[in-house]
Amino acid sequence: METLVVDHPLVAHKLTTLRDVRTDSPTFRRLADELVTLLAYEATRDVRVTDVTVDTPLTPAHGVRLARPVPLVVPILRAGLGMLDGMTRLLPTAEVGFLGMIRDESTLKAQTYATRLPEDLSGRQCYVLDPMLATGGTLAAAIDFLFDRGARDVTAICLLAAPEGIAYLDEAFRGGDRPIRVVTAALDERLNENGYIVPGLGDAGDRLYGVV
Ligand code: URA
Repeated sequence: METLVVDHPLVAHKLTTLRDVRTDSPTFRRLADELVTLLAYEATRDVRVTDVTVDTPLTPAHGVRLARPVPLVVPILRAGLGMLDGMTRLLPTAEVGFLGMIRDESTLKAQTYATRLPEDLSGRQCYVLDPMLATGGTLAAAIDFLFDRGARDVTAICLLAAPEGIAYLDEAFRGGDRPIRVVTAALDERLNENGYIVPGLGDAGDRLYGVV
């Protein structure tokens, strides 16, 4: 498994304001959106392209276009929705599938409550959006779901990651037949006893959308 912590002053600046408990939901949503676009730029470095030739006003020129099948972007509901616009701004021709997963707060295990994904993901590059890589259980279940349908490779884009979650994914996808990458703005210290990332930013869904 490959982990990329994007080291860029603008990423660090936006993340710092996201962490700040005084940041209100509208500002949090806007900053999360901007941050995802910056992460997406790095996360799509290996996106598949095909060679094409176009005519400029002067002469033919060689270039590339996104290969087919186009990438699939999969926000994990609910908090992953706050990352969708920032991702599709960079990949407007990508298709979007949805996975509803919730963490049982007593067992910390992931449960799927909604899916809207193509049956056949053969050859697809998939980008999973989940702001908080905490225990790794939810993300591992989501990634397994995509590989079970034939995905070629999966990149998870997370605003924050905990070392425990990285270790869990590394173990779960060891062996290389299910290649995954994690792209994140920061690797935090640890999880607390409730499964929250420390120092973290709190509950990402609540901070995006309020407590419901
Ligand atoms: N989910 C969150 O929203 N925040 C955490 O810190 C961990 C999981």
